[in-house]
Amino acid sequence: MTSFALHGVGVSGGIAIGRAQLVSHATLEVAHYTIDSGNVGAEIARFDNAVREVQRELEGLHATMTGGDAPAEFGAFLDVHWMILTDPTLSDTPKKIVAEQRCNAEWALVQQMNVLVEQFDTIDDPYLRERKADVVQVVERILKRLLGKPGPVTPAGAEQHTILVAHDLSPADVIQFKRHRYAAFLTDVGGATSHTAIVARSLAVPAVVATHNARQLIRENELLIVDGTNNVVIVNPDKSVLAEYRLKQGELSLERARLRRLITKPATSIDGVEIELQANIELPGDLLQTLENGASGIGLFRSEFLFLNREGLPSEDEQFEAFRSVAEGMRGKPVTIRTFDLGADKQASGLEGLARVAPNPALGLRAVRFCLAEPRLFLTQLRAILRASHYGKVKILVPMLVSVSEIDQTLAMIAQAKESLREEGIPFDSGVAIGGMIEIPAAVLAISAFLKRLDFLSIGTNDLIQYTLAVDRADDTVSHLYDPLHPAVLRLIAMAIAAADRAKVPIAVCGEMAGEARLTRLLLGLGLTNLSMHPAHLLSIKQRVLTTDIARARVLMARMHRIDDPVRLSKLLDKLNA
Ligand code: PEP
Ligand code: MG
Repeated sequence: MTSFALHGVGVSGGIAIGRAQLVSHATLEVAHYTIDSGNVGAEIARFDNAVREVQRELEGLHATMTGGDAPAEFGAFLDVHWMILTDPTLSDTPKKIVAEQRCNAEWALVQQMNVLVEQFDTIDDPYLRERKADVVQVVERILKRLLGKPGPVTPAGAEQHTILVAHDLSPADVIQFKRHRYAAFLTDVGGATSHTAIVARSLAVPAVVATHNARQLIRENELLIVDGTNNVVIVNPDKSVLAEYRLKQGELSLERARLRRLITKPATSIDGVEIELQANIELPGDLLQTLENGASGIGLFRSEFLFLNREGLPSEDEQFEAFRSVAEGMRGKPVTIRTFDLGADKQASGLEGLARVAPNPALGLRAVRFCLAEPRLFLTQLRAILRASHYGKVKILVPMLVSVSEIDQTLAMIAQAKESLREEGIPFDSGVAIGGMIEIPAAVLAISAFLKRLDFLSIGTNDLIQYTLAVDRADDTVSHLYDPLHPAVLRLIAMAIAAADRAKVPIAVCGEMAGEARLTRLLLGLGLTNLSMHPAHLLSIKQRVLTTDIARARVLMARMHRIDDPVRLSKLLDKLNA
C-alpha cells in the first residue's frame, strides 16, 4: 500500500489516527455504528416502525392527492413507491443486515439500497433502469423517519477509531455526529469558517476540509493520520511516521490534561483585567461541555440548529423547553440566545414551502431578514425565548442586522411578543437584554444607530470577513482570500470596539477569531473584554489571557492603524505573541 499525504485546511486541531469510513451522497450521509446484541430486537422494531410510518405517509398522500385536480400519474407514482416499500428486499433484508452485522438500521438500509441500485444499473430497459431513483426516494423517506427517532447511543469503541471521509457535509449532517464519537473528519470541499467546519470544531475532534479529492483517493478502511493543526492527512503511513504521530498525540493529551487545571481559575490578565470567556453552542446537549470547560456564560446559542434534521418546525413549547434547559443549566450565568439564522447553508426541511431559490443565498433572505419576512415564525421563537428568560439570565441576540428599520421592526416584534405573554399571564424577564450581531461592514460604519437602540453588541467575525472581503466562507476555491488579518477587517473590528466602548455598550466577539489563541492578544489589545467560542477552545484561550499584559498589547495594537502591509502586520502579531 502506497503512503501519500493530502493537504487541506485544518478547521479543528489535534491528531487522530484511525480507519477511513467513506460516506456517500450528502442526503444519505448516515451514521454507522455497532449496537449491543441486546439492542438488536429494538433496532429492528425501530426499522419496522419507520417503514410503517412511511406506509401511512403514502396512504395519506394517496387519499389527499389522487382525487380532484391531481394529475393521474401521481397515483401511479405513489403505487410504485408503495410496491418498493413493501418489497421484502427493502422491508426485510435490512433487518437481516442489522441482526448479522449488529449495525444501526440506517446503515443497514443504505447498504441494501446500494445493492439494489447496482442491480438497477445493469437493467437494459431504460424505463426500468430509471426506477432506481424511486428506490432512492423511498429509502430517503424511511431514513427521515429513522433520523427523527434515533437509536441507542453508540457504545464507545469502533467509532473512536473511525475517520469519516466525505465529499461534502452540510451543517445538518455534521450536527448528527454529535451523538457519535468519530475520531476525525475529512471533506473535499468547505471553507474554514463554513458552518460545517464550525460544527465539526464543536465535536472537538480533528477536522480537515478542502482536501479536494480525499473522497476519491482514499479507500474504505485505509489507515489515516489526520493532523488538523498542520492541515495534513497521511494515508497508509509507514511505521516510523505512525510512531512519530503517536508520540505527538501523547504530548497533546498531556497538554490537554495540564489545561484542565485552569477550569476554575478566573480569566484575569497579568495586569488585572477580567475577561469574560463564554461558549458558543448549537444544541442543549452542548451544555455539559460548556460547564466542563468553565465558561462564564453562553455568548452564542445558534438556535437555528433546533430547526434542522427534523420533520416540520419546532413548536413554541419545544423551543421553550430547549431554551429553559440551557437557562437553568447555566445557573444564573448569561445565556445569549441568537434568534434563528436560517438560510444560506442552513436550510430547515419544514420551510420548504416558504423558501425561495435564491440566486445568491448569502446575500439573500437569511437570518433576521427571513424572520421579518415570516413574522409568525419569528414571534413563535421570540415568545419561547422570553418564556425561558423567567428561568435564568437570558439575552436575545439578533443576527445580520444592517439597517435602522430592521432594528426597529425587530424591537417592535419583541414588544409584541412580550405583550401577548402579558395578556396570557405568562411570566418572563421584562428587562431582557436585546443585542445585535455586527456581521456586515455597513453595520460598523453606521454603528451609532445600533448603539442607540440596543443593549449590547456581538461581532460575528465569520460573516464580517465574508462580507468585507467578498469571499464566500463556505467556498474552498477562495479560502486563501479569507483573511481575518486583512487590514480592512481589523479596522472594522477596531472601530466597532472603540465606538461601543465610547458609548459604554458591552461588545463581544463570537466569531471563530475569538477561539484562536494566536489572535487573543490582538483582540484584547483592541479593547475587547468578552470573547465567545467553542467550549473546546475555552481553556487554551484562558491560558493566553492569563499570560497577557493588556496594557502592552494596547500600545502595540495602537500601531496597527498605520499598517496596511501584511508582512509588517504579521511582524506586529509576532511581537504581540512573543
Ligand atoms: C459569525 O458570523 O461570526 C457568527 C458567529 O455567526 P455564524 O458563524 O453562525 O454565522
Ligand atoms: Mg454569522
